[in-house]
Amino acid sequence: MHLIDSKPGVGAPTRDFGARVRKIWSGIASLSPVTSDAIIISICVVIIFCVEYYFEFAPKLFEFAIAYEEWEVDNLIFVVFVMSIGFAIFSYRRMNELTLEMKARRNAEMEARTLSRHDPLTGLPNRRYFVEMLGDVLLTTTPDSLSAVLMLDLDGFKSVNDAYGHAVGDLVLIQFAQRVSAVMRSGAVFIRVGGDEFAVIVPNIRSLDNPTALARRIVTTVAEPFLIGPITTTVGVGIGIAIAPSDGMDPETLVQRADRALYRAKAEGRSRIHFFEPEMDAHVERRVAIEKELRAAVAANSIVPYYQPVVALEGRRVVGFEALARWKSDKFGWIAPDVFITVAEEIGLISELGDQLLRQACLDARAWPPELTLAFNISAIQLHDPGIGLRILTILAETGFSARRLELEITETALVENIKVAQDVTSQLRQAGVRIALDDFGTGYATLSQLLSLKLDRIKIDRSFVDRLGKDKESTTIVRAVLGLANGFELETTAEGIENDQQLSALQADGCLEGQGFLFSKAVPANEVLSLLEPEKTKTRASA
Ligand SMILES: [Mg+2]
Repeated sequence: MHLIDSKPGVGAPTRDFGARVRKIWSGIASLSPVTSDAIIISICVVIIFCVEYYFEFAPKLFEFAIAYEEWEVDNLIFVVFVMSIGFAIFSYRRMNELTLEMKARRNAEMEARTLSRHDPLTGLPNRRYFVEMLGDVLLTTTPDSLSAVLMLDLDGFKSVNDAYGHAVGDLVLIQFAQRVSAVMRSGAVFIRVGGDEFAVIVPNIRSLDNPTALARRIVTTVAEPFLIGPITTTVGVGIGIAIAPSDGMDPETLVQRADRALYRAKAEGRSRIHFFEPEMDAHVERRVAIEKELRAAVAANSIVPYYQPVVALEGRRVVGFEALARWKSDKFGWIAPDVFITVAEEIGLISELGDQLLRQACLDARAWPPELTLAFNISAIQLHDPGIGLRILTILAETGFSARRLELEITETALVENIKVAQDVTSQLRQAGVRIALDDFGTGYATLSQLLSLKLDRIKIDRSFVDRLGKDKESTTIVRAVLGLANGFELETTAEGIENDQQLSALQADGCLEGQGFLFSKAVPANEVLSLLEPEKTKTRASA
């Protein structure tokens, strides 16, 4: 874009005098100092000559000098003449310096402004620019001319960094930025918000088809493998979309809602696209409230263990109890363990909660007959902490509960995620006499060698197989195979989720010795445990 028409002749009459002077001035300024000084001297001489010619003051001055010869006026005139030329040169040079200084400052300011608004790695605009730009775009957004905000987050980027290092990760980000920039529609602005988070502002759209089509193009282009030198790797991209004005008209709300849609997209899987929906707000608000309640509950020690009996299938005799966390919140009532355990894991409260529950369970179990065992669940996140073995032993020592009566249940998925820590922790605990059970067997993807690298005492068959026993041939075969495997390795077995006599007899026929489920009893509070020990209670529960 050019502001002044530079074609010779065209538009010349409209060009003002000031512009011409500036042009001549900058022409002189670009010459060497000696040349420009000579030109300034010449211009001064010409100006003085012209002024003298117009006013004809030279003869008058001459007469005056003759009349007052004793005043040496001629010398004075010469000095004034030379000084005025010197002053003209000085003024010109100073002005020139000032102009150059101002120009340099303007350039530096522009550069700083550009740098502060751009991401040095990808060259894309950054978060700061994003906020300013979004504010500007929303000023022109109307119900007839919508705007969309797309929040993007890479799927699997952390594993690229972990596997190949940050240098390769950075190159993936650069390639990602180039590919997505190539599919942008005109007017859209693509931004790196930070890390592996990006955003797109799409102004002036007529319908939701535009951002949907753009999001699809982005997902498609990112799906192609990334080639970094000899390395070939893949990442995905989750996209959350919010639309102005319907989802909000201020930048903060709009970005927050696009983020919520992104959160949903990420939860649904790799490379998903999700628009914001109003119930997401309610979901997030409930989640934030649960977080707050949970912190208070952990601080007040109000999440308690309930106990579900583990029964010897032959004779239905109670042989132990599995502790299960139960929480009745003042605000929300009973909250499912799946929900609050996940929240506790996400906000880093799981270790504290786990320790609290184990301590309470050990204290409760001390009141039981000494032959009964206590089974306690350890989550995958707890197993990230190599110090967990020591903490469990400390709790056992503090509560005076025998390590030989404690059985820790570790899920197959947790094992696969942390096989090294799991090996260390379980061998430390087994040395102290604690028994280890593999929980929810059949739901993870542990290899046989991984399972055997761990010294196990028991396998718990997941309820999903027990539930389908007798309904599909596959589950019946799997249960039979697991029981055979456990027998071969001399491991004990417990079947979870037994709900009826058919399941019970099928399991017994295949050699399963212990089980738990609603057929015997649900989990009960600590003060009801002893009443379950009367044999007829677990036997009659089925008909109750
Ligand atoms: Mg369990």
